[in-house]
Parts: sequence; C-alpha cells; structure tokens
Amino acid sequence: MAPRELDPLLPQNEPAPEISGYGTKSYTSHLASPRQDAPPAYESASEDEDNVESQSVAQRALSSLAGIFTVVVFFAFIALMLSPTSPTDMQPRPPAPPGHNKIEERVERILRDTPLFDGHNDLAILIRGAYKNKIHDSAFKKGFEDGGLYGDVDLPRLRKGRAGGAFWSAFVVCPENASDDFSDAEYSGAVAHTLSQIDLLHRLQAQYPDDFTPAGSGVEDALKQFHKSKSMLSPISIEGLHQIPQSAPLSTLRLYYLLGVRAATLTWNCHNAFADAALIWNVNETVVAPYHRGGLTSAGREVITEMNRLGMLVDLSHTSYWTQKAVLSNGTSAAPVIYSHSSAFTLCQHPRNVHDDILELVKETKSLVMVNFSPGFISCSPPADSSQLPDFDEKNNTVHQVARHIVYIGEKIGYDYVGLGSDFDGMGDLTPRGLEGVDKYPNLIAELLVMGVSDEDARKVAGENLLRVWRKAEEVSARLQKEDHEGEDDVHGYDL
Ligand SMILES: [Zn+2]
Repeated sequence: MAPRELDPLLPQNEPAPEISGYGTKSYTSHLASPRQDAPPAYESASEDEDNVESQSVAQRALSSLAGIFTVVVFFAFIALMLSPTSPTDMQPRPPAPPGHNKIEERVERILRDTPLFDGHNDLAILIRGAYKNKIHDSAFKKGFEDGGLYGDVDLPRLRKGRAGGAFWSAFVVCPENASDDFSDAEYSGAVAHTLSQIDLLHRLQAQYPDDFTPAGSGVEDALKQFHKSKSMLSPISIEGLHQIPQSAPLSTLRLYYLLGVRAATLTWNCHNAFADAALIWNVNETVVAPYHRGGLTSAGREVITEMNRLGMLVDLSHTSYWTQKAVLSNGTSAAPVIYSHSSAFTLCQHPRNVHDDILELVKETKSLVMVNFSPGFISCSPPADSSQLPDFDEKNNTVHQVARHIVYIGEKIGYDYVGLGSDFDGMGDLTPRGLEGVDKYPNLIAELLVMGVSDEDARKVAGENLLRVWRKAEEVSARLQKEDHEGEDDVHGYDL
C-alpha cells in the first residue's frame, strides 16, 4: 500500500478515485451531454451568470428608463461611499479577505501590460472531437462567440481571463503501433490529421482576426499586435513527432514552420523514431513506459538541429526522463527548450512531471517549465513503485495547488524558468477548483501574489519567460541559418 501523503505541507489527503490515464479522453460523450447550458457547478460560475443577467437588465433599463437609472446609480454610489464594507462586498461573491482588492488591482496591472501567454491550449482537438471541425455551424459559432462552448475555452472567457496568447496545439493521437512501426503506412493518418488541424487553426484565426494574431507572425510582430489591439499571440504547436512522417522529418518540419508551427513536442504518449516517451497510450489505457533507448536517437539529434535552425521550439513535455536529460545536456539544443505543459515531480510523482535534477538542467540551459493545470498532474499521492501511475487526489485539486507547483519551481531554480501551460480543453471534464477555464487565469496570478510572489516575478510567469525563450530561439535561428544550410532527408527508392 502506498503512503497516502506525498507532501507534508498539505493537509492529510483522503483516498480519491484514480482518474483515467492522460490521453484516454473520449469526445463522443461530449455531444451526448453538452455543457453549453451547464457551466461547472462552482460558485464562481454561477457568479458569472449573475453578472451577465444583471448587465442585460441594466442595458434595457438604460434604453427605456435612463433618468430613473441615473438616480438609482447616484443613490447606489452614495450608499457605497457611506458603507463600511469594501466595493467588492457589493458583488454577489463571498466576502473578500483583507487586502484582496489590492491584489485584484495588481493582477489587473500585470495582465494589462504583459500578455498572459499559455504554453499549451487544446482547443483545436476539442473542436475536432466535439464539433467535427465545423466552425461555421451554429452549434460551434454560438458557443464560441457568445460563451458557453463545451470545454474550457471560448471568446468571452478568453477576454474575461485577459488571455494574451497561447501555443495552440494541432494535436492528434499516436498511431496504434507508433512505438514499433515507423513506416509511412503506419504514420500517414496522423500526418493527414495534423494538416487538417493546422488548417482548422488557420481558419479559426481568419474567422476571428481581431482575436487571433496570425500563426506565422514572428515574436516581435505578434507582441506589437497584442499591445496595439489586444489580439492574442497565436503560434501553433504540434504535440509529438508522430505528427511528421518518420521517413521525411526535416522537410516536413520546414513545411510545418511555414504554416505557423513554432514548437514541437518530441513525443506524445508513444515512442517515435526520434525520442522516447514517458508514457505509452493504448486506446483504452495509458501505462508508464519502461526505459527504452536512452532517450534521443541520432535521428532525433538531427531533428533538434533542424528545429534550432528553423527557430522552432523544442518541447520536452511527454518525453521520458532520459530524453529530457539527453536534450538538456552537452549543448544538444542550441536554443533554450520548453516544457509546454508539465508540473513539478516532487509535488506530484507523475511521469509527466519534471524531476528536481532535471530542473537544475532547465536553469543551466535557461529553458522553461510551463506548469500544467491538469488535475492528475498537480494533485496525487505517490504510486507503489515507479512503474505505476500515481493516484489522483481530489482534495488538493485547486488553483492553490497549481500555484504551489509554480512557486516550488520558482523558489528552486528561479522565476525566470517557470510559466503557465494550462492544457485547457485537453484535461477532460475535471478542472481544478478556482481554475475551471481560461476565464479564471487571473485567479492563478492572484494566488501567486497572495503566496508572496512579486509583481515582477508574476509577470515573468504570466508571459515574459515564454517571450524570452521564443525570442532567443529566433536569435539562434538567425545565426545558424548564416552558418549552415538546411538538413536534408534521406530518399529511398525512385532510382533512375
Ligand atoms: Zn499533452
């Protein structure tokens, strides 16, 4: 029997049911029980409904009864001035703790000037699963534009949460025998679906140009656009090199780059010709991958060189401990790398999280770990042994626990090397309490401030660190392109 308590700082955890392994989500059930009219049953969600309702009532009153409305507002203002309570007490929410208002103001200032830049958002695969990529059908359009889209993301929630940008993942699952069979026949479906997901993100960005900056923008252009119009920085990422043909990695990555792909995870939950994964996904279950090939293959090293040359970020989330060690040692990557959505192993012993000794290498290489909000990665009790997945612990499934992962990494290696990688729309139906969707990002920044993180460090976590790493990758790319030509794939067959 495993000990139930991993972290002595936390209250005694009670046994909680184990959640299914990462990646076993099914979207067919989403259509059967859509959440459009049923936001999560937490206090903050009903608070939002109240706000929307009172806004529309006020607007009607304003158009027909402007005079009365003015009088009401005047007396409400007088009442507020005379009241011993703070303005936040006037809103339908629990009384704020002392100093809370000041925290809100600090959060507001931080997110006004710094884009909150999320390392990993799975909206695209949710649209594929739940809406079959039909972005002009009313089922999608209404929810996305007016709010209440199934899942964790839609435009009103992005705006409310002061989202400044994200790496939008063009994720597709691993082929069934991906770890053993690297043939084009095995991988062709994943490549085809990746193109369709990249196309989906392009169509979404074209349909909502005021909200999304084009994926192909460089970091400075995208940032300029954010400051000018608050449109979101919107590079695309792929989540595993199973999304390229194993026989033609370099040419395909170059073409993906042209399509706006600015980061690639080396693996998802399957091994590929280039790198070893931490977990193996088998349609109905996900298991811990045993030690495989020592991490990175020689073909994998060539891929990293080409990614450095292109200015495409190398992403180590989902990779095995040994892959991480190989990439972060001996200057394997010429540019800093990212973990787009991984948390701290010491706080939750999940193979998807980052070990302490690896965190030291992250610091050494000026790389970046963006903390995943997904419940199974933030709150768990340790497994019986390292060949098993840990038990999820519902008790600590909170925004505070996500903040603890950030503070842990920040205090250990510095706040220059930690960021946000939500995994929103990729974590299934369960979300942390207080962090139920993109509209709740400010809660997390507030929690960091409450825990004593400075405004300057909170800005780094919110987005400045990811901007720094992206800038550095572009700088390295410009240098390497002057020094050497592009890598060329081997061609087999077609002999003349
Ligand atoms: Zn993932």
